[in-house]
Amino acid sequence: MTYDGKLLEAVLTAGKAAGVDLIGIGGAERFADPALRAIFPEVISVIAIAFRVLRGSFRGIEEGTTFYQYTTTGVETIEEIMLPSALLKISAAIEDAGYLAVPQRRNQKLRKEKEKPNPEMLHTDWYPAGEKEPQLDFARAAASCGLGEIGMSGALLTEAFGPFQRTAFVLTDAPLPETPRAELHLCDRCGKCAAACPGRAVDEKNGTDPLRCAVYYRGAGRHANPFMPPDAYADFPDREAIMEGSAALDYAHACEIMDETYFYPGIKHGYVSGICGRACDRACYDHLEKAGKLKKCFVHPFRDGEEWRLE
Ligand code: SF4
Ligand code: SF4
Repeated sequence: MTYDGKLLEAVLTAGKAAGVDLIGIGGAERFADPALRAIFPEVISVIAIAFRVLRGSFRGIEEGTTFYQYTTTGVETIEEIMLPSALLKISAAIEDAGYLAVPQRRNQKLRKEKEKPNPEMLHTDWYPAGEKEPQLDFARAAASCGLGEIGMSGALLTEAFGPFQRTAFVLTDAPLPETPRAELHLCDRCGKCAAACPGRAVDEKNGTDPLRCAVYYRGAGRHANPFMPPDAYADFPDREAIMEGSAALDYAHACEIMDETYFYPGIKHGYVSGICGRACDRACYDHLEKAGKLKKCFVHPFRDGEEWRLE
């Protein structure tokens, strides 16, 4: 296949100008995900972009001091401002060259399966899309574009930022040179992501259970939530198990718990505040940093001592 070198340069320049941290390109033949061709049957190349979530955005939840900053600067601003703006700039550069560019950001409120909520959205605020509106599997698509690998938790891990980034994509009918697939060397299945989750949502075999994650992301675990009142879940017979993260959950029970889990305000654009503090990703980042696997180095370690936890 012949490539338009000028177009590649234009894409990289547009991404850089928009502040994108990582860009990778995968040919459509790398993708088994049927959503890709359902969205754009003529797709030839997929461009993945990623913005880092600043280490500093995790500082408050890493130390149990401030909880607002992570969800607003680490989730909302990246999803609602940075990624869409970069997608539009890169897409415009492609369309200037005469090719079609189809931007893909997450639609946080569309759910394929009822029992698999998006932890970052209210469980009551969703639409049952089923197969009606296909969405890419973002972590797998990013790995197919050479950005990194999928860790045991299901998170995308990159050499630059570990699990700390968020992604979006441009599908195009322009032929572009592919980024080599990342060599799998980051996740050693240490299990630290699973051990850190206050709701036991991560398991070695199945990755992250989105239902358990939705319940505990918003703060049902007592060891991770300083805002929980003493009488929380008083009417639940399995109150202790809920707060310890060991409650058996089906969808109905998870919704009952989530209905009672509002101990801290949400963020604009409907984002639920991440009270668990993304403990899985922080434990993973700490592990990768200490193992010397991250290329981006800091003067001080991310975690110096024991993980913050309420007794
Ligand atoms: S914490 Fe360990 S097991 Fe979990 S994703 Fe990271 S490296 Fe893999
Ligand atoms: S630590 Fe938080 S984000 Fe990670 S799996 Fe558990 S509840 Fe979900």
